[in-house]
Amino acid sequence: KTFKELGLIDPLLEALNQMNFTKPTDIQLDALPHALEGRDIIGIASTGSGKTAAFALPILQKLWDEPKGLFACVLAPTRELAYQISEQFEALGSAMGVRCAVVIGGMDMPTQQIALAKRPHIIIGTPGRLLDHLETTKGFNLRTLKFLVLDEADRLLNLEFSEAIDKILKLLPKERTTYLYSATMTTKVAKLQRASLTNPIKVEV
Ligand code: AMP
Repeated sequence: KTFKELGLIDPLLEALNQMNFTKPTDIQLDALPHALEGRDIIGIASTGSGKTAAFALPILQKLWDEPKGLFACVLAPTRELAYQISEQFEALGSAMGVRCAVVIGGMDMPTQQIALAKRPHIIIGTPGRLLDHLETTKGFNLRTLKFLVLDEADRLLNLEFSEAIDKILKLLPKERTTYLYSATMTTKVAKLQRASLTNPIKVEV
């Protein structure tokens, strides 16, 4: 199947074309139909599989219908990954004017607070720093959130982000769509899955 046959909207097809993503990868082929139907997804896939677009495309497609407020939050284990995810959201969302903010540890809080005040659609961050902002940045909350992505969940949990993630989960609307991607399925990942996803579809490559 092509991206068009999967039912993606024109602004996304245009961006995919510009990025030279000519056909969907296996994880995208498996995940997109369920994601576009609104299901929670657990994806067992590693870097290089095209997992970022597999979760970014359905979020952006839904954002096109409902371009209001902070829309999605992606938790990633490292700064480098957070920036890569942000770049991919911006490239895929280039025909839709999507705004992203990256909030990661070791960088200046006030600069990130200014970025958050600009009302981004998508926030990509490491759990510790995102929690810092939720606890201290005036006027910032995740109450309008529609999507949560837990990317590289096995690494998130190995890096001892469990406590921050648990606290963040408590501050999110229960009514949301959640995608969890992990290279491996461990006991800790299964526990996080039970705590954060509702009736998920599992896709594996
Ligand atoms: P990821 O697994 O999300 O880190 O993606 C790995 C690499 O594949 C990234 O450089 C993406 O830009 C690229 N990529 C993702 N999906 C596609 C696609 N459908 N066609 C070509 N390249 C892709």
